[in-house]
Amino acid sequence: MENVKNQIENLRETLRYHSNRYYNDDAPEIEDYEYDMMMRDLKNLEEQYPEYDTPDSPTKKVGGKADNSFESVVHSVRMESLQDAFSEEELYDFDSRVLSVVSNPAYCVEPKIDGLSVSLEYENGVFVRGSTRGDGNIGEDVSGNIKVIHNVPLKLKKDIPFLEVRGEVYMPKKSFENVVDKQLLNGEKPFKNPRNAAAGSLRQKDSAVAATRGLDIFIFNIQQITGVTLHSHKESLDFLKELGFSTVPGYTLVHSMKEAVDEIDKIGEKRGSLEFDIDGAVIKVDDFEMRNQLGSTSKFPKWAVAFKYPPEEKQTKIIDIEIAVGRTGVLTPTAVLEPVHLAGTTVSRATLHNSDFIKEKGIAVGDVVTVRKAGDIIPEVLCVNKHNSNEIYEYPVFCPSCGSAVVKENGEAAIRCINPDCPAQLLRNLIHFCSRDAMDIEGLGPAILETFVQNGLIEKTEDIYALTYEKIENAALEGFKEKSINNIIRSIENSKKNDLGKLIFALGIRHIGAKAGSLLANRFKNMDAIMHASFDDILQIDGFGEVMAESVYDFFRNEKSVNLIQSIARSGVNMNCFSVVNDTRFEGKTFVLTGTLPTLKRSEASKIIESFGGKTSSGVSKKTSYVLAGEEAGSKLDKANALGIEIINETEFMEMIK
Ligand code: NAD
Repeated sequence: MENVKNQIENLRETLRYHSNRYYNDDAPEIEDYEYDMMMRDLKNLEEQYPEYDTPDSPTKKVGGKADNSFESVVHSVRMESLQDAFSEEELYDFDSRVLSVVSNPAYCVEPKIDGLSVSLEYENGVFVRGSTRGDGNIGEDVSGNIKVIHNVPLKLKKDIPFLEVRGEVYMPKKSFENVVDKQLLNGEKPFKNPRNAAAGSLRQKDSAVAATRGLDIFIFNIQQITGVTLHSHKESLDFLKELGFSTVPGYTLVHSMKEAVDEIDKIGEKRGSLEFDIDGAVIKVDDFEMRNQLGSTSKFPKWAVAFKYPPEEKQTKIIDIEIAVGRTGVLTPTAVLEPVHLAGTTVSRATLHNSDFIKEKGIAVGDVVTVRKAGDIIPEVLCVNKHNSNEIYEYPVFCPSCGSAVVKENGEAAIRCINPDCPAQLLRNLIHFCSRDAMDIEGLGPAILETFVQNGLIEKTEDIYALTYEKIENAALEGFKEKSINNIIRSIENSKKNDLGKLIFALGIRHIGAKAGSLLANRFKNMDAIMHASFDDILQIDGFGEVMAESVYDFFRNEKSVNLIQSIARSGVNMNCFSVVNDTRFEGKTFVLTGTLPTLKRSEASKIIESFGGKTSSGVSKKTSYVLAGEEAGSKLDKANALGIEIINETEFMEMIK
């Protein structure tokens, strides 16, 4: 029995962890199906052993919690979740439960959109507020980001005194591809799937960013309405359409569970060809009076059920393995497959993740493998069913794009090409090199760099400094007139005067951000000293660990990196550090910043601290010298108090730097 209790507690803890990663961090680590199966196990155990059931179990809770960086919204009508079903049998069980309360219900069957739930409120036909579901009772006010979704009507076609609707914000597959492309190009970590991308975009602090994400919304419910009486779900969806809303597409009214199951199958077949992700189909009792009779539990209404499609898996044969070099230099293996029909699409390629996965599973061309397509766009090879031989695929030791030797860094599964001129990575590196915190070459934005690369004006980074007015003019590119060419040349010239720290950052050395770039510059004063510094010299820098030191050391042992630096130095690019620190009053001191400061931005405060030789850290520990706290400082303040660390406000900080 003690064992069961432990099992229940372990499951709860694991589910809470993944729920937090999914709802609050928008970064799930496991497939939805895996999560759902764990939840199912927990539910079964709680039913079997009611003595261990508790009201705060994840089986009884809805979603995530409201983030305090947004205003809270108390939902006057609770935003519930849905009970789920994974088999026909479970759907018929749901039907029996419904039939034990009401007779001859009509069911509405509609696709279950894989996005995130929001509430939109309208007063006298005008949009007044949009919020997330949160824990069902309290959500976050994300009005600014909802307003910029193109199909959210800001004014309704009819003047209703008050209306609250519920819908699903989602990211169409096309928008997702664009967003991920941009993220990769900027060297950012891409979103895992459209659902996380939608959630991350809707909780952006800056609505202008949310507006660029191509979000969409489908409305599927009226939460509250005044002045109009509606009797059924179908009637309310038709009414919502008349008001100007995009309602959930492809819903059908049926009169038995048998017909509902047929509809679910039809939606499932269309799944792969839809322009957006769905993770199931929802069956809802249509009649509102019947819904009232059926009621709700603490988590979901008893009149609806979500059927979740299982991730589809099929067996097929690997006919080839291809290695692509991504824009971050990572070599990624893809299995070319004998085509199979999976989740509504023909699959002929699937990811093999990385070299460790291939080695661990002993994968080789000719093997029969299981391929799975879950919610995510890219199918994956799951396991080997039959090996073709004893051999294992040999991973390349040279980059397939440029021929340089590849490296596997400590603790990483990824194998990467670190040649800065590798054509597969060139554009990304150039964009980074010219970006504002790096060399700040305003005239060479991403689109112009792409044009220059395509037209052979830039083949490697140092070619930027070999660009001349004549070279650009002679290329006869559309849209490049005297003024724009002069602008480019001027911004290239200006960048030659940058401080060494910016140049170090611009080089795109792995693990070396803008802050580490200036630390290196401050410590060694010129490029030559950095290039000749030993691993131990670099490791001495306060704030540098072994991974960073190794990365810097290796970078300057690469012939291509040395050539790049020598070439741009000949072009007149500054190789010295200007910002030598004279006042080191904060040397040896570590600050932790928390809360909102009255006038200073946190980034400004950090810069000031660093310019006086101090350090900033994100977590409070015994080594912290001061906690600089502003409004709404959270748990860091409690920790500082507990450890007896000095807490200062902005005024006191300003005194210290006078
Ligand atoms: P749910 O996704 O199972 O169902 C409820 C939601 O469906 C509603 O909030 C609603 O917004 C949405 N929905 C979409 N289309 C709809 C329609 N036509 N009609 C009605 N509702 C519609 O429940 P949930 O509580 O939002 O999320 C739980 C699910 O989230 C889990 O089943 C799991 O799949 C996933 N999850 C995954 C992880 C992970 O780590 N991978 C972690 C936590 C949760």
